Amino acid sequence: MNNNSNSDSNLRLDHIAIAVNSLEEALPFYEGLGLTRLEIEVVEDQGVRVAKLDIGNTHIELLEPLSAETPVGKFISQKGPGLHHICIGVANIEDNLCQLKSRGTKMINETAKIGAGGAKIAFVHPKATGGVLLELSQPQAE
Ligand code: ZN
Repeated sequence: MNNNSNSDSNLRLDHIAIAVNSLEEALPFYEGLGLTRLEIEVVEDQGVRVAKLDIGNTHIELLEPLSAETPVGKFISQKGPGLHHICIGVANIEDNLCQLKSRGTKMINETAKIGAGGAKIAFVHPKATGGVLLELSQPQAE
């Protein structure tokens, strides 16, 4: 993993996350487009209810804040509903965090946390990514 290849096949677009006020209000549009709802999960650690929608080789996640005090709740009160983050799936998140740390990358999470579906996740600060909140995710081993 420690090379400069720009075609690392272990990387993929894991999901795009959209902050919404209410899953029940937002879901009919996406389901009406033909996307299949896979599950709705409460992730207490991130302060969200997550609806995961299948869209071929990736997912769309709708994020409903559990309260106004959560990160997504604050995001919505400051910016309104909208694109919240994109997530890149990685094979070994500890390797990525090590590399980012050695480069002095501004992080939101210096160490991995457990996210939806038991994945190991960490967020990179938008200041380091060109202005977009970026999540790294290593899926739970099957
Ligand atoms: Zn995410």
